[in-house]
Amino acid sequence: MTAKPLVAGNWKMNPAAANFTELASAIADEIDKIDGVVKVLCPPTVALREVATVLEGRDVLVGAQDGHPEPSGAYTGEVAMGMLGQICSHVIVGHSERRALFGETDHVVAQKAVAAIANGLSPIVCVGESLDIRDAGDAIKFVHDQIVGSLTGVDNPSSVVIGYEPVWAIGTGVSARPDVAGEMAESIRNTLMDLYGDEAALAIPILYGGSVSPENIGPYIDRPHINGALVGGASLKPNDFGQIVSLVASIRG
Ligand code: PEP
Repeated sequence: MTAKPLVAGNWKMNPAAANFTELASAIADEIDKIDGVVKVLCPPTVALREVATVLEGRDVLVGAQDGHPEPSGAYTGEVAMGMLGQICSHVIVGHSERRALFGETDHVVAQKAVAAIANGLSPIVCVGESLDIRDAGDAIKFVHDQIVGSLTGVDNPSSVVIGYEPVWAIGTGVSARPDVAGEMAESIRNTLMDLYGDEAALAIPILYGGSVSPENIGPYIDRPHINGALVGGASLKPNDFGQIVSLVASIRG
């Protein structure tokens, strides 16, 4: 079984004007009818229910950008995976911004991935090297170790999605060369095969993320182990996001 193509839009802490309904419906109008690709919108937590309502009856899913591994308790400001599971199908865990700005380690990311799965959510587990690590020639080993660490305790990966996002490509306009991303995706696939066996590993979607646009998405999706995209900036532009989903569908769908 090969992985189903997937495109997820990470809105991050946007849009500032908080016109969530407007943005979600404009995007849904662009992508609703595109078949062969799983489509996920990840708005800020405060907008999850609103966006889920807009997407009701449409072929577009809702994802959260993070979640807490504990089921409940004294964690001010946090939202439990179980709470998210009532609204969402997916949750991003270990985004590089969370790792860098909020000190999330592979251990924490793994706890989140395990809790997400236990609550019926598909975790989009993000990994990726910094420019220093790439320049030192250590990117493949670093990401291998991140995958192993971030999936510790995940025994059944059937709902897992991997987002490969080189840190230096996120929000910079400098996307990774498709052959570089393709080489990393192949290495990630090999790591997943070592962890879970060939059949299960081949069914795990591996997404490329980092300054994806309608202009550059094609050559990534041409790579055999890249099954879709995790899109930041361009996911706030309905037309651009629509074109990205449509190109992924035409190449992979
Ligand atoms: C992201 O935030 O996951 C991302 C890939 O952002 P951008 O597409 O803006 O680089």
